[in-house]
Amino acid sequence: ASGYPLLRDPRYNKGLAFSDKERDAHFLRGLLPPEVISQDLQVKKMMHNMRQYQVPLQRYMAMMDLQERNERLFYKLLIDNVEELLPVVYTPTVGEACQKYGSIFRQPQGLFISLKEKGKILEVLKNWPEKKIQVIVVTDGERILGLGDLGCQGMGIPVGKLSLYTALGGIRPSACLPVTIDVGTNNEQLLHDEFYIGLRRKRATGQEYAELMDEFMSAVKQNYGEKVLIQFEDFANHNAFDLLEKYGSTHLVFNDDIQGTASVVLAGLMAALNLVAGTLAEHRFLFLGAGEAGTGIAELIALEMSKQTGAPLEETRKKIWLVDSKGLIVRSRMDSLQHFKRPWAHEHEPVKNLLDAVKAIRPTVLIGSSGAGRTFTKEVVEAMASYNEKPVILALSNPTSQSECTAEEAYKWSQGRAIFASGSPFAPVEYNGKLYASGQANNAYIFPGFGLGLIISGAIRVHDDMLLAASEALATQVSQENLNNGLIYPPFANIRKISAHIAARVAAKAYELGLATRLPQPRNLVEYAESCMYSPNYHNYR
Ligand code: NAP
Ligand code: MN
Repeated sequence: ASGYPLLRDPRYNKGLAFSDKERDAHFLRGLLPPEVISQDLQVKKMMHNMRQYQVPLQRYMAMMDLQERNERLFYKLLIDNVEELLPVVYTPTVGEACQKYGSIFRQPQGLFISLKEKGKILEVLKNWPEKKIQVIVVTDGERILGLGDLGCQGMGIPVGKLSLYTALGGIRPSACLPVTIDVGTNNEQLLHDEFYIGLRRKRATGQEYAELMDEFMSAVKQNYGEKVLIQFEDFANHNAFDLLEKYGSTHLVFNDDIQGTASVVLAGLMAALNLVAGTLAEHRFLFLGAGEAGTGIAELIALEMSKQTGAPLEETRKKIWLVDSKGLIVRSRMDSLQHFKRPWAHEHEPVKNLLDAVKAIRPTVLIGSSGAGRTFTKEVVEAMASYNEKPVILALSNPTSQSECTAEEAYKWSQGRAIFASGSPFAPVEYNGKLYASGQANNAYIFPGFGLGLIISGAIRVHDDMLLAASEALATQVSQENLNNGLIYPPFANIRKISAHIAARVAAKAYELGLATRLPQPRNLVEYAESCMYSPNYHNYR
C-alpha cells in the first residue's frame, strides 16, 4: 500500500514516524503534519496519554485502538512497558472487557465460528486475510477467567492471549489467529442483553457441539497443516479434558488452563523450595478447586515427584489433596466424581469445607484454583501459618475480584510469613513497616515461550516432559535477589529473555523425544529462539 491506504493499514502505518524520504516516496506528503518523530517518542506520548485514563476499560480500549491503527507501536508499547500494560490487555481488565464486549466491539480481531457456519468452516478460515498461521487460540467462551459463561464475548481472551504470544514470545502478529466458537450461551443476562453479539440460544451440547468442534479441528489441519499450534482456552471442564484427550494424538494441541497453569505453578514451587525446607516430595499440597487448573497442576506436581523419587504416580499423588464445591475429595465419593477427579480420591473421612480440610491435612502448600473469590479466609490463612513457618499460599483465580485472598490479607494474617503469589497482580503491601512484593503466578510466563519452542522446533505433538522442561527453565530464571524479596517468579520486565530460555528448553525436549521436524537441530537453541522473535521496531520503507 502507499498514500492514504498506507496510513490506514495497521501493519505498515508508522504515523508521525514516517521520514521525509518515506513521505515523498509513498505519496504521504500533506497527509501528515510536518513534524517527524521517533518511535520512542511515540511510545512516550502514548504512555503519557494512557496514564490520563483513570478507568481501566478506557486504557484497554485505547490499547485496542492503537493495535488497529499502528500494530508495531502497539507491540513496542506493550514490550517496553510490560509490567504496566499487562494488567490492561490481560487479567484483570480483559475480564471486564469481555463482560462488556458487545458494547465496546468495533472491529473484528479474530474469527467468529458459530453454529451458523456449520459445514462452511474451511471457507470461513479462508476468509481470514492471513494464510500462514502458526498459533490459534480458541475459546467457546463457557468459562472465561473466573467470570463464567460469557458466550461469544469471550473473544477478548484469544485476542489478549495472542497479543501476549507476540509481545512476550515473539510470534509474528500475522501468524496469530484468535477464534471464538459460538454454540450459544447459558448466560441469561447476555441472552437478554440488547447489545449481545452472539447467537441467542442455549448452548449446544453432545453431538451437535462435538460435530462443530470436529469440523473446526479438521479444517484447521487441512488449511494450515500439522504444525499449527491450537491452544484451547477457557473451555468449561466438561469439554476441556475431553477435547485435549481427543485431539492430543492427531493435532498439536495445548490447553493453557490445564497444562500452562500446571507448568507455571510447578515452576513457582521449584523456586519456592529455595525458601522453604524439603524436596517437592516432602511437601503436602491442598487445593481449593478441582477443575482444569487444580487437577492439571496436581498431576504435573505428582509427575515431577515421581521423576525425582522413582516412586510411581499412584504413590506421589497421595501427597496431594483437593477440595471442590462439595468438600474434600475422598474415596467414599468416588462413584459420583467426574473422571478427572478420581485419581485424587484418597482414603479419608469426609470433610465438608476448606478450613476443616486444612486442619485435617495440614498442608505446607495451599493453592486456590476455584474461581471463587474470598475463600482463603482469615481462619484458613491463620491455620496455614500455625502449622508452617513459611506457608506457601497461591491464589490463582482470576480476575482480581475472584482471587482467593489479597496479597495484603495473606501477609497480614500470616504475620508476614507467607510466600504468596496470585494469578492477577497485586501492588506491593506494607506490613509492620516492611514492604512485601508478591509474584504473579500466571500462565503468561509459560505459554508464549512454550509456543515459541514448539514452533522453532517444528514440533508436531505436545508432551508432558515439555511442560516439565518449561517449569525448570522458568524456575532457573528466578534470581537470588528475587528470592530474597520473597518472589518465586522473576519480574515480567525480563519476559522476552525468559521466553527464549523456555522456548530453548521446550525445543530441546522436542528434539530429544523425536517430535521435532525442523532439522538439523540448531546448535544454540537460546540464540536461535531469540533470532526468531518478532521485533516491533519500525522498518525503513524505501
Ligand atoms: P473449573 O475447571 O471450572 O474448576 C473450578 C473448580 O473449583 C471446580 O472443582 C469447582 O468445584 C471448584 N469450586 C468452585 N467454587 C467453589 C467454592 N466456592 N468452593 C470450593 N470449590 C469451588 O475452572 P478452572 O479452569 O480450574 O479455573 C479456576 C480458576 O482458576 C479461574 O478463576 C481461572 O481464572 C483461574 N486460572 C488461573 C490461571 C493462572 O494462570 N493464574 C490459569 C488458569 C485458570 P465443583 O467441581 O464441585 O464444581
Ligand atoms: Mn485461561
